[in-house]
Amino acid sequence: MSQTNQRILLARRPAGAPVPEDFAFDEVPLPSPAEGEVLVAHRFLSLDPYQRGRMDDAKSYAAPVALGAVMECQAVGQVAASRDPRFREGDWVVGGFGWQTHSLRPGKALIPLEPAEAPPSTALGVLGMPGLTAWVGLRDIGEPKAGETLVVSAASGAVGQVVGQLGRIAGCRVVGIAGGAAKCAFLREELGFDAAVDHRGDLAAGLDAACPGGVDVYWENVGGAVQAAVFPRLNSFGRMVMCGMIAQYNTAAGAAAQGAPPGPNLGPVVRKRLRIQGFIVSDTGWARYPAFRAEMLGHIAAGRLRWKEDVVRGLEAAPAAFIGLLEGRNFGKLVVALDRGQADKEATCGRHQPAEAANAARGACREAKRRRRAGV
Ligand code: NDP
Repeated sequence: MSQTNQRILLARRPAGAPVPEDFAFDEVPLPSPAEGEVLVAHRFLSLDPYQRGRMDDAKSYAAPVALGAVMECQAVGQVAASRDPRFREGDWVVGGFGWQTHSLRPGKALIPLEPAEAPPSTALGVLGMPGLTAWVGLRDIGEPKAGETLVVSAASGAVGQVVGQLGRIAGCRVVGIAGGAAKCAFLREELGFDAAVDHRGDLAAGLDAACPGGVDVYWENVGGAVQAAVFPRLNSFGRMVMCGMIAQYNTAAGAAAQGAPPGPNLGPVVRKRLRIQGFIVSDTGWARYPAFRAEMLGHIAAGRLRWKEDVVRGLEAAPAAFIGLLEGRNFGKLVVALDRGQADKEATCGRHQPAEAANAARGACREAKRRRRAGV
């Protein structure tokens, strides 16, 4: 086991889009667990858009990362040393650990994982916070009904791919908006969306063709020009699930100084009796996590739900990958794999596949590994 903890710190607050100089790398000795604590060796780090908000010293629903502190994120890891009787060395866990190779946590703050159920990295995506966000927002706000048209932006991303598939399971006509031909093809061909529209092309014409009966539920991940295009196409009694507006994250501070950016004309909210509601997944989500996980595992086992991860390798790759996330360069749930051994294989063997296929693939991986070790 490595004797040091490698970390990425917030070196300064970004002005607009983050740049590599906003982050700093350091290395400190590994801490030892006190009574009730667990030392976790991270295998996968989750890079998510909300982390951009934590870099600003602005009032929000969560405190900012302090200057010089470790960047915040959820991570999946394995127990390296434990002084909590509930955890043994090698156990897989998920929690909020930061952009670093190790962390020391109270045992009670850790959620145990069962790798036989699904690849561990899925605890950061389809079976983790982004999947939970999709499940909570659709149930509580979107309320999709069979035959309705559901449009989701950033549709190939961590949240969007789950929103669209749950919409299909609910019997909706599902239209995804994504950047580029490859992402749109993925939505149609691999996830079974009814249509996909490239927001880099003629978005208005694409939406007209894909939504001839208008839009009943709009899942908002992006804001800006995409929101402006979808909004006038909402039907009476439509619902707009305000999940995030990533197009504005790098400009919010500057835009606030200059006045709010131009948005859609909200006048029809009244005439059409629209419901537009924002939410934060942690409001109610984690208390409902067991129900979410049980339902999602059922969908995965039945082959109704698939997922795509975008895996970058090594802690040092995190800042550039995060900067790319805010520019749409990721394709699927963005995770950092910290270990070229088991963690890497768990992710690449399991992705894009329903659990049954993933389990078979992981079995094949384990067998291949066994053969390699045995020199067969
Ligand atoms: P994604 O995995 O979808 O990655 C971000 C995607 O957003 C990119 O791939 C890109 O997709 C799109 N994007 C990035 N920058 C821009 C831009 N400037 N203009 C238009 N599109 C852009 O991220 P997540 O699924 O993790 O998050 C999606 C949204 O959900 C975010 O707004 C996030 O903040 C929000 N969120 C909210 C939560 C809540 O509790 N309310 C919880 C979790 C997430 P493309 O190339 O297709 O345009």
